[in-house]
Amino acid sequence: MSDPKSTAYQELIDTWREASLLGSCGAVLGWDERTFMPPAAAAHRAAQTALLARLGHGMVTSQRVGELLENLHEAPLGEAETANVREMRRVHDRAVKMPSSLVEELARVTSEAQGIWQQAKEGNDFPKFQPWLEKILELKRQEASCVGYAGSPYDALVDEFEPGATAKSIRALFSDLAKQLNPLVAAITQRMPKSKVDLSRREFPVAIQEKLCRDIAAAIGFDFNAGRLDTTAHPFCTGIGPGDCRILTRYHANRPLESFFGTLHEAGHGLYEQGLPKEHFGTPLGVAASFGVHESQSRLWENQVGRSRDFWDGYGPKFQAAFAPVIDDVSVEDLWLSTNLVRPSLIRIDADEVTYNLQIILRFELEVALMEGQLKVADLPGAWNDRFKQLFGLVVPSDAKGCLQDIHWSFGGIGYFPTYTLGNLLSAQFLETATTDLPGLFDDIRRGQFARLTDWLRTNIHCHGQRYRPDELCARVTGRPLSSEPFLKYVRTKFAAWCK
Ligand code: ZN
Repeated sequence: MSDPKSTAYQELIDTWREASLLGSCGAVLGWDERTFMPPAAAAHRAAQTALLARLGHGMVTSQRVGELLENLHEAPLGEAETANVREMRRVHDRAVKMPSSLVEELARVTSEAQGIWQQAKEGNDFPKFQPWLEKILELKRQEASCVGYAGSPYDALVDEFEPGATAKSIRALFSDLAKQLNPLVAAITQRMPKSKVDLSRREFPVAIQEKLCRDIAAAIGFDFNAGRLDTTAHPFCTGIGPGDCRILTRYHANRPLESFFGTLHEAGHGLYEQGLPKEHFGTPLGVAASFGVHESQSRLWENQVGRSRDFWDGYGPKFQAAFAPVIDDVSVEDLWLSTNLVRPSLIRIDADEVTYNLQIILRFELEVALMEGQLKVADLPGAWNDRFKQLFGLVVPSDAKGCLQDIHWSFGGIGYFPTYTLGNLLSAQFLETATTDLPGLFDDIRRGQFARLTDWLRTNIHCHGQRYRPDELCARVTGRPLSSEPFLKYVRTKFAAWCK
């Protein structure tokens, strides 16, 4: 280790690991905040979290880290080390370009704006939220100009969630998708029958739902010795560190499929976290590739596997038996139909897997126009409603059910929405490759055997962390760049009976 390059690399890694440990302490506090923390602890928790964030930020933006990265510039490093340095530099450079006054102002404004957004949504009062969104956009434009960009200011923001993605690259992908989805949605909506049963009129004991959720998470490979499943109002997954991944779901006595698919979704995220290489914890090689790749893992299990006909042919009778006699009269066909109905709807989080992408395309177009200044915030409700009518054929009855429905803009998450659809497209492209690599995969799925698929995901995706940029990862795994084609093919095949 006398080589100054390797000494510099080791010092950089040691610092990064310490900053990551602070981050993982923050993740434990964040999990507790959304599960068991008493409400009166909110102010104290905010102070704890802010201190950890400040200490971690100070470590990765320090002058010393800048010098170490500089020392390693063009150093002959191995593939793994090169990837680590590339990603540490990306994080460091972005952070040091942001003046601390802007970071603090963004934290202050978005923290207050989330409360205002909540009130505005509840009161269907867009003008109340309008000045806050204007302020957030102004700050995000400042952020973009500090970080720098070549094309659109939006590029500087989306890069934080999806390294390498730009407004232009996403627009190319999404415009093709929208063009092809529109006639498909129209055809399926017209012909696909509703399930003959309405599960929401029946009672499904929560204790049984809980058992099924735990069983299905374990069946796809979620390791309960290294993770937990708990209950929360807003389900999520948080990877705290090696051997500790927490997933959360919610239960409703009349909606057993909500907890079931919610758990499959979060367990898909959880498998990714549990599959990251433990020896690289605290360095980019131990971190998921991007938000879009993370979402591809949850949606692959929730939709591509969990909503498939093969899955329900095998699992449906077990699901019925668990709740007997509540749904003894329901056929597997009807169970499958009730998990798959494609219909335009107002609310993103209730949308089916096909129309969901149109929801995202709408938000992407509007947030780019807002960032680039082509759309004024005052005109957002009108623009939303017009585009919604074009895409879905529906009249938006209120801003609460329109442009005020999502929390994302209020916390400054501009550039976040596209990662949901990128996740859908990636999941289809990954599964298409897995199906070729693993003959008889859907026979396994019908039999409730998921190990071959889980192993495939581990060796092709999870174990790499950030070794490859998201676009590189996609090309390496599937042999070609990301496109909407595998997803469209999946939709056309799955809904073939109602597509033509
Ligand atoms: Zn997710």
